[in-house]
Amino acid sequence: MTAPAASARRLVFLGPPGAGKGTQAAIVAAELGVPHLSTGDMLRAAVREGTELGKAADAHMRAGGLVPDALVLEILGERLRKPDAATGFVLDGFPRNLAQAKELARRSPLDAVLWFELPRPVLVERLTGRRVCPTCGTVYNVTSRPPRVEGRCDREGAALDQRPDDRPDAVGVRLRVYAEQTAPLLEHYRSAGLLRPLDAAGSPGDVTERLRRLLAAPPARRASQGL
Ligand code: ADP
Repeated sequence: MTAPAASARRLVFLGPPGAGKGTQAAIVAAELGVPHLSTGDMLRAAVREGTELGKAADAHMRAGGLVPDALVLEILGERLRKPDAATGFVLDGFPRNLAQAKELARRSPLDAVLWFELPRPVLVERLTGRRVCPTCGTVYNVTSRPPRVEGRCDREGAALDQRPDDRPDAVGVRLRVYAEQTAPLLEHYRSAGLLRPLDAAGSPGDVTERLRRLLAAPPARRASQGL
């Protein structure tokens, strides 16, 4: 195993919903000793806790649309200011549009943007087939990783949940929003010399190995990160 280069510590994981960013971000962040900052997780926690911000975000998330930038920035900005994020982070799910990318550039330089690539039919299967244990958080998939007993967690026996935004209609919206608002960021980060494309197909272990190799490679070129 090759350890990721110590210099590449301020990372953005960019890619469509269902590409496995969250799974890989948790692993890479732990290996680098930096926080894993997932705006989706932060927003879901706010919804669970019933905060004002959570109440305002809930309907957008259920429908598969983006939460307004001001709310996302409020929750992420606070987190980015904590001391553990000063020298590194793995950002997962942010930025999702050009306005967010501009805000991020104001707050922190970046070392690399990892672009998770996966064909649409695979994304749809992963998202609509995902089931989660409400007790321990274990993630299953009805086709690729089914539980031993249909609809029940292997560890807890609890009835598995489906995220509201993993229902087929919301998945369609999420993929459209990605294509319209997030995908344009690829060109932006490519011209800034930060983009590193990653083949996100295969097992989580295979993808982690590819990611480690990409992070260990020197950057293609240095370029201005300004917008
Ligand atoms: P995925 O990337 O698989 O769609 P996430 O857990 O990252 O899942 O995000 C879930 C939902 O949270 C999104 O569909 C969106 O409603 C909201 N969200 C997360 N990050 C952002 C963001 N940066 N800007 C706006 N909305 C966001």
